[in-house]
Amino acid sequence: MRFVRYQVDGEVRHGVIEGDRVRELLRTFFDGVVPMATSYALDDLDLLAPCRPTKMLCLGINYRDHAEEMGHTLPEEPVLFMKPPTALAGPGQPIVYPHMAGRVDYEAELAIVIGRRCRSVPPEKVDKVIFGYTCFNDVTARDLQSKDGQWTRAKGFDTFGVVGPWIETDPGDPGRLSVTCRLNGEVRQSSRTDQLIVDCRSIVSWVSRIMTLEVGDVIATGTPAGIGPMQPGDEVEVEIEGIGVLRNTVEAEREKGAKPAHIL
Ligand code: MG
Repeated sequence: MRFVRYQVDGEVRHGVIEGDRVRELLRTFFDGVVPMATSYALDDLDLLAPCRPTKMLCLGINYRDHAEEMGHTLPEEPVLFMKPPTALAGPGQPIVYPHMAGRVDYEAELAIVIGRRCRSVPPEKVDKVIFGYTCFNDVTARDLQSKDGQWTRAKGFDTFGVVGPWIETDPGDPGRLSVTCRLNGEVRQSSRTDQLIVDCRSIVSWVSRIMTLEVGDVIATGTPAGIGPMQPGDEVEVEIEGIGVLRNTVEAEREKGAKPAHIL
């Protein structure tokens, strides 16, 4: 099933996709699927990020092809970092290119969405806490990543954690999905999740041994080879087999600086 969040009459609603329509739900899909009579044409809705994570956890250097591209030897454990909840952006929302950055990259990633509050989940029980999967764009100020020596600034700007367009509960085997990034329609990243060094189940189990995972938390599994820069005006698409296409445009930060994040 595919679950969406959207806004109607100033209110955030939750829905399930039925063909080309969205059936409204009584409450958030994390609390059980209770369909209502109301439905909308999917194309007419402005979708929001499909969840409101308390944190976006991201893995670095978790694809064999990307580790080679960056000149890394294969790590024993992946790098784990976080994006603040204020970095969240949804499908169709502009990615803001900050004045402070000299190079801003796309990173197409498969992301896991947590459906149950949990801690120290053994690998064989991980399916109970995974709600579904979505597309993620781990937008990165590449120049600041190397300049700072750690990644909080490079990865943490508003709109640098792009999630959506929906949560798919059954995309097929998460270890066998194609991951594609297109910039202005041109393919820039093309890989498969069988290139992951640490697979999805092991990632969730490992991260849950470090910190409590909350409902709606997002774990991005790393990006494959082919990373590269974007410019204001570009359209970037992250497509994951069995899930869909996450599409955004890049825009320059306003002259006077960006406004505070307004996240629904
Ligand atoms: Mg990444």
